[in-house]
Amino acid sequence: MKIDTLAVHAGSEPDPETGALTRPIHLSTTFERGVDGSYPKGYIYTRSGNPTREALESCLRQLEGAAAAAAFSSGSAATASVFQSLAAGDHVIAPRDVYHGTAGLLRDVFARWSLESTFVDMTDLAEVRDAIQPSTRLIWIETPSNPLLKVTDIGGVSAIAHQAGALCVSDNTWATPVLQRPLELGADLTVHATTKYLGGHGDVLGGAVLARVEDDFFGRVRRVQTAYGAVPSPFDCWLVLRGVQTLALRMRAHSENAAQVAAYLSDHLSVDAVHYPGLPDHAGHDLAARQMSGFGGMLSFQLKGGRNSAMKVAAKVKVFTRATSLGGTESLIEHRASIEGPGTQTPQNLLRLSVGIEDASDLIDDLAQALAD
Ligand SMILES: *Cc1c(COP(=O)(O)O)cnc(C)c1O
Repeated sequence: MKIDTLAVHAGSEPDPETGALTRPIHLSTTFERGVDGSYPKGYIYTRSGNPTREALESCLRQLEGAAAAAAFSSGSAATASVFQSLAAGDHVIAPRDVYHGTAGLLRDVFARWSLESTFVDMTDLAEVRDAIQPSTRLIWIETPSNPLLKVTDIGGVSAIAHQAGALCVSDNTWATPVLQRPLELGADLTVHATTKYLGGHGDVLGGAVLARVEDDFFGRVRRVQTAYGAVPSPFDCWLVLRGVQTLALRMRAHSENAAQVAAYLSDHLSVDAVHYPGLPDHAGHDLAARQMSGFGGMLSFQLKGGRNSAMKVAAKVKVFTRATSLGGTESLIEHRASIEGPGTQTPQNLLRLSVGIEDASDLIDDLAQALAD
């Protein structure tokens, strides 16, 4: 089935009890046992299994073309569950420009539990190969990357990982299964912040881990999910399920608008550089054109005048909202270096845009007035 159809129907079958087309939200934390002490419906307690969460996991599994899915209360909890499924002394290779929360988990949390990590330029396959150690168990990729939209070769890195006996995990939050299919390109697992495009309306925090095969490693992720209990509430699962119904439509609208905004900014005299994989002169354009079916709604640009010019533009926008995060219907603008804080590699003159689904001409007019002296 095509992704547009799956997005509408996966996990949203009519309720078998009542025929309701809109899924009920099963708030119950506990489930009745049979007279013989068994669990006739298969549910025991909501931390270990809940019908609304199962509907979401089924939906995400089908969208990503995965064998198994585990839903979490945030993208970061999903990410942490993958690291928690490794062992002390294992080595992880991650991109130098990985989502700063993921870098923080590796550096501040898991390093204390003896998980080793090396950060590399993931777009340089030779550098990835050189970083392999006998203890390397996992290579983490995130493409397109944040905030420079660098594009990583998912098939290339997966091959390097597999040669080394390691797993390749792809954070597919920015592209979504609509635009990019990491499991079909060779990745073993994908991770999502459903907080972003899957939820799609900026009103729910969530995450997921999806696996190409339901193996022992995924079993450990599942064990972490139910043992730690960083699970999404039934209402949060329902919100993500509702958001997903329009995912394919929204991703097309985000991509079309972002392409127009990127083209506009590229021609602007006050703009030094635009980072969008849809632009033919972007370093990752050819690779993105091969491994993505659209270039997505995220882009960033650098102002000629340095940090002050960037802050001035962010201060003047009226349709864009100054806020972090991404993937909602509304357009956001963010001075990324200041949220990442001290030690950030992000240029001070850079603004990141999460291009929403408004009319592109209104977005361009807004940027035009903000960029005007
Ligand atoms: C937001 C984000 C995360 C973390 O998700 P949370 O739901 O905020 O914990 C991880 N990876 C990427 C690429 C993200 O954009």
